[in-house]
Amino acid sequence: MRKNIIAGNWKMNKTFQESVDLIHNLNDGIDQGSLTDKRIMVAPTFVNLYPSLLESKDSPVEVIAQNLHEEDSGAFTGEVAAPMLTAMDVKTVILGHSERRTLFNESPELLAKKVDKALEHDLEVIFCIGETLKIRKTENHYLEIAGQVRKSLFHLRAEQWKNIIIAYEPVWAIGTGLTATPEQAEEMHQFIRRIIEKKYSSEVAESTSILYGGSVKPNNAEEIFSQPDVDGGLVGGASLNAEDFLAIINSI
Ligand code: PEP
Repeated sequence: MRKNIIAGNWKMNKTFQESVDLIHNLNDGIDQGSLTDKRIMVAPTFVNLYPSLLESKDSPVEVIAQNLHEEDSGAFTGEVAAPMLTAMDVKTVILGHSERRTLFNESPELLAKKVDKALEHDLEVIFCIGETLKIRKTENHYLEIAGQVRKSLFHLRAEQWKNIIIAYEPVWAIGTGLTATPEQAEEMHQFIRRIIEKKYSSEVAESTSILYGGSVKPNNAEEIFSQPDVDGGLVGGASLNAEDFLAIINSI
């Protein structure tokens, strides 16, 4: 059965020491007994992955990557490849974050290649999808989400879905303080599960974790996470301090 996941996306925040300290404080504060059916992840920036991995060794906090390049190696200045991540024992990577799509022009087709590369190297993928406010206002959000899933994930074989986690992150809710209502989140998560079921099977749909992301905070996490099709969250701003992130972890 699918697991609940709380993942912190640190984006371009935290120095070396701040990253290590935050992981240390999370380890201190996590109630280990509550972790049988949930996973905790944090995604530091690339340069801080290795010290973060060392700090999290033998702890329940999984250190994951924020992105990867679609090739294994080559003349791609500033980029990071999947084999570099797996060599450090990184097991999971975030792909398709709306900031990557909009600020770095990552298209659904490019993201399909990145997904393939990650899976080729046995990396698990947290794949982000979400609609803009303009699309939601014109009531095209279901069409948009279906398109994003189809273009980047529906070429996969059913057995590859064991390494796919979806993060539904309405773009209008990311870093804005606006949150989807629990009902809006549940409706969209149900829809995503239905299209996966239609394309593959109920087994694939039921075993895929679908996270919600977009201004999850300690004061709204419990209500959102209590929805039956919401299997945890991808958290930006509130994952940057231990107290808030621990409160969110404890609310599932
Ligand atoms: C994110 O960047 O994935 C995110 C959900 O950010 P925030 O929680 O700050 O809205």
